[in-house]
Amino acid sequence: MSASTNPIRTYIRAADAVIREHAEEVAALDQAIGDGDHVANLQRGLAALESLAEQLERMDWSAAFQKIGMSLMSSVGGASGSLYGTFFLAMSKAMKDKAMNLPNLAEAFGQGVEAMKQRGKADLGEKTMLDVLIPVANALQQAARESSGVPQAVETINRLAAEGCESTRNMIATKGRASFLGDRARGHIDAGARTSQLMIGAIAAVHVK
Ligand code: ADP
Ligand code: MG
Ligand code: MG
Repeated sequence: MSASTNPIRTYIRAADAVIREHAEEVAALDQAIGDGDHVANLQRGLAALESLAEQLERMDWSAAFQKIGMSLMSSVGGASGSLYGTFFLAMSKAMKDKAMNLPNLAEAFGQGVEAMKQRGKADLGEKTMLDVLIPVANALQQAARESSGVPQAVETINRLAAEGCESTRNMIATKGRASFLGDRARGHIDAGARTSQLMIGAIAAVHVK
């Protein structure tokens, strides 16, 4: 990485690797209570980002997040595509003319989650990826307030993401395809919560190597 590039390519590769590693597990989760395509949707999105990586790593954060959001919106499809797209477009707006640091990332991530909540009309406790993303947003904001060191922030984020993912197991879904199943959705982790946890963990790990 030269001085003029950001680490986005490393993040994309880390996310892609962890999703590939867990592809069967994630496919099975979406087969159990969805339509089974979540891992394929996500992998299409990550492949689209990989093909843009050279451009992305030369952009400022706001421009890169905008391009990522637009690319995910058109490549991922499904419910998750527009939600990821919305998340990154809001991150882009929040990072306009801002440097990348913990307080600005925490603010932008929070804006991204807020925009996703509005777009999907969902909140905590509905058995979606928001059950991971909301606690992670809170952890980032707390780490920024307390000026936590990176290793401690990463540890807290990983713990809350794991707890958030696991918390979806015994929920019934009130949004998305799993909501059609009522009580039968209980006992299964939400696929989108699991992939959010996996990707956040992989990207965070880039910073504690
Ligand atoms: P689809 O359901 O259209 O097949 P995917 O399988 O790619 O799309 O994504 C499903 C995931 O999207 C779910 O596991 C859930 O985490 C997430 N999701 C679905 N609806 C919502 C919503 N309204 N808000 C937030 N996340 C949602
Ligand atoms: Mg699906
Ligand atoms: Mg689908």
